[in-house]
This record gives sequence, C-alpha cells and structure tokens, in this order.
Amino acid sequence: MSDTKEKEINVKEKNIPEIVGTSNKVLEVDLTNKTYTIYQVKDEERRMYLGGKGLGLKLIYDRMPAKIDPLGKENIIAFMPGVLMGTGAPCSGRFSAVTKSPLTGIMDHASCGGPFGMSLKTAGWDGILIKGKSETPIYLVVTSSGVEFKDAAALWGKDAFETQELLGKNKNAGAAVIGPAGENKVLFANIVSEKRFLGRGGMGAVMGSKNLKAVYAIGGAYKIVAKDQKIFDKIKKVATKRINNSPSTSHALRKFGTNNLVNFTNLSGILPVRNYTEGSSDNAYKITGEYYSENFNTKHHTCKPCTILCGKSGTFNGKELSVPEYETVGLMGSNLEIFDPVVIAEWNDLCGRLGMDTISMGGTMAWVMEAGEKGLIKTDLKFGSPEGVAAAIEDVAYGRGFGQEMGRGSRALSQKYGGADFAIQVKGMELPAYDPRGSFGMGLNYAVANRGACHLGFLLCNELFAYVHIHHICLYCRKSGCKIQRTYIPQSCNELSLSGSIYVGQYNP
Ligand code: SF4
Repeated sequence: MSDTKEKEINVKEKNIPEIVGTSNKVLEVDLTNKTYTIYQVKDEERRMYLGGKGLGLKLIYDRMPAKIDPLGKENIIAFMPGVLMGTGAPCSGRFSAVTKSPLTGIMDHASCGGPFGMSLKTAGWDGILIKGKSETPIYLVVTSSGVEFKDAAALWGKDAFETQELLGKNKNAGAAVIGPAGENKVLFANIVSEKRFLGRGGMGAVMGSKNLKAVYAIGGAYKIVAKDQKIFDKIKKVATKRINNSPSTSHALRKFGTNNLVNFTNLSGILPVRNYTEGSSDNAYKITGEYYSENFNTKHHTCKPCTILCGKSGTFNGKELSVPEYETVGLMGSNLEIFDPVVIAEWNDLCGRLGMDTISMGGTMAWVMEAGEKGLIKTDLKFGSPEGVAAAIEDVAYGRGFGQEMGRGSRALSQKYGGADFAIQVKGMELPAYDPRGSFGMGLNYAVANRGACHLGFLLCNELFAYVHIHHICLYCRKSGCKIQRTYIPQSCNELSLSGSIYVGQYNP
C-alpha cells in the first residue's frame, strides 16, 4: 500500500486547475474484468437530476436490468458527490451513494460527510459507478489519472477504522471502506468514510458481495469554483447568516449535537422505549446531547466543510470516541431500555468499526429482546440489561450462531419466527428514533419514502417544533409564552435557561 502514498498529488494551491461547478465526468468500473471507462454526463441529465442522489439513481437505472439480485454482480453501487461539493458552500461536505438494497430489495440511498466525496470530486470525478465482482478481495485507488485495481488480501478482515489507517494518511485522500459486517454480507452493513457513514440499507453488503474492500480517492488535483463567484459568495453569506441566526443550528445542534433532540422527543412522547412500546422515560436525560456535553469533554468532530458543526467526539473511560448521534442513542439506548451513555458510546464505536448501521442493529436487537420475552425465540438478551449486547453485535458482524440470522434484520426474523406485529420496520428497513404515533408527518414519511423507513424525507421541526415555537410552551412550567429553554435536569425554569437547548412542548393534535 505504500505506493499509494507515493502517488500523493502535491500541487501548489495556486497552480491547481479549476473545475467550474462540475466536471461532468463519471467513472464506470467493472470489477469482473478490472476495466473502467469514463462517462460524459449529458446536459439534459444534469438539468433534470442535478447531482448526488438524483443523478446517481438515473445513471444506475439506465444501466441495471430489473429484478437483479442486490448481492449479485449486476448490481451497481454509485458514489456521487453533489454539485456544491468542493465549493465551500455551508454544509456541502456530504456525498451520496445509491444502489439496490439487499435489506429492502428496492432502491437505496445514503449520504455521508466523510472525506471520500471531496477527494473524489477534487480528483476530477463527479461520480463513480461500480459493477461486477472481483474473484478475490480488491480495492480501488482513484486519482485524476483514473482507476487502479489493487489486491486487498492484507485489508480483508480488518475493521473499518484500521483499514483506513492501513490505506495511508494523505491530506487530499479519503476512503469509502467496509468492515467485517460488509465482508460477511450483513444486510444492514454500512460503508465508512473516516468516522462517518453511508448508513442505511446494507450498502456495505453490496461492496462485500463484490469483494470490494475499499475505494481510496486521492484528490487535490482540481479546485472547484462557482460559475459566478460574486453571486455565489453573496448567497453563501445569506445561508451562513441564517444558520448562525437559528437557535437550532447555531446553538442546539452546534453545542449538543443531534442528540439535543432527546429532550424534545422524550417530552413529546415519541422517543422509542422498549421496542416502541413506550414513548418516554425518566432516564432519558442520561442520553441527551446536554448530558454528553457536560460529562464527557466533548468537542467538534464534523463533516467538512460545515457551518452547523453537529458531529461530536468525547472522552469515555480515557478513550476518545464519537459521541453517538440521536438515532443511535434512540435505537441502541432507549429502545433497548438502556440509558448508560458510556456503553452506548462503546457500542456505537463497535458498530462503526465492524461497519454496521446502528439504527437497524438497534431495531433488530429490540425485536430479539421482545421475541425472547414472548417466548418466540430463546435468547439471553433482555430489555434494560447491557449483558450480552456487545457479544451479539460481534456475532452479527461475523455471522456467528444466531447473529447470522439477526444480520438479516427484523423483517426476516419475524417472517421465520412470527412477531411481525412488533418488527418495527417499513419495507424491511427498521424505523429511526421517532414514534410515528406522536408525529403523523413522520408516519406518512415512513410509509411513502422511497428507501423504506427513512428519517431524511420529513422534518420533524415542521410539525412539532413549529407548534412549540408558536405557543412557546414549556413542559417544565407548562406555561404558554415561557422563554425558558429546557434542559435534561428538572430544575427551575430560571436555572434551566442557563444551559438548555430547545423549547419543548407537547403536541396534542
Ligand atoms: S456535521 Fe452535522 S450539520 Fe454539518 S454537514 Fe455533517 S451532519 Fe450536517
């Protein structure tokens, strides 16, 4: 792997050629033959589908026959940076991936703020489509010159973080890699870039089915500029100002991360507890962003570039780990009736290393606990007990014992053992951490979203935050017009205002 480092593109900033917006060049890789071609994106495709998810889906739709096996060699996985990637626009450091999901059997999309997208785009590529299957483990190195096919024998079996270390550090490089879960085709295996994830729908299993361990892009060959820099700068200024003026994006998310939402969902009765049989808990304060912030020496650890800065890391038992995000504390914490912020951070790290989606992992684990209580299966996993959870996570990733069945998700388990009424999924994808019975908009979103139970197609704030903000209701004092910001410790409103994050209220439609 050392030759990869030697290929680092070392151009002085001022001499870098420019790409105005998009290069319109997409790599098409065939792993079976170890060949690649370059596709020129057409003007009408760009106009109709813009970039990222839209363009990616159009490109794979045109190339993939119907009814193919998601884990077969005909499936295509596409990594697609967006139009704004590389321009420095606020929060534009995220890229998309699309494929056919092995978990749901339908189209899949995920987005990620790891460095891979920026590296791919500044290497001069607006996307990479990968089909076929290598006979042996392989990884790709992408530079401005094209694609190299490399033997991944030394990487196979390594966890996702270790794999990235072994690929080498390079300020212009970023990787999209799988962990053991992807290699073993766990149906909710994810793809990892730095410590951020293409989480949902089992994209890691698609890479694993192709014997593709990693795609390593070395960028820095091009500078991405706007077509009209003056207008771009003006709009960027407006967007940045709006982000900095909003209490949510300038304070709650920036200071406490996405799990600042726990107070809100808990008090609104939509935090999943005990496999969605309850919607709140008195112990929820221990998994709030506020609690993590005050007790674990948290700091920013975000996608780049970002103006909101919601990603966090913290110190847990002397180790620096990512602070689990809202969906993770909801599914791997409260939904299992576990409110220990340290063990949830450790499970989050374990799932990250092994390369698995924490939402589906938590949803499936909760189904197993409930099925065990109801006598449908034999298991030692129990609500409220962390005993055996870490071992079960590893069993899933390595396909050991019952873990192999858990790796197919809650829908498949319920089809075999019964218990479909408490397999909390839509189209085979486990629900994120918002109980739709208290948020009808989210319920509609789950029902119709094109990838299954998705939390990205609907903004909870439209339905619930708006009510709270309009009426300024404080759940602590229950008074309308209260200006106080609720925090996790039930103190007086005056004290709460010093450290709190958001207005909270109850939605009674
Ligand atoms: S750090 Fe958070 S707010 Fe910023 S781009 Fe990433 S997910 Fe979005």
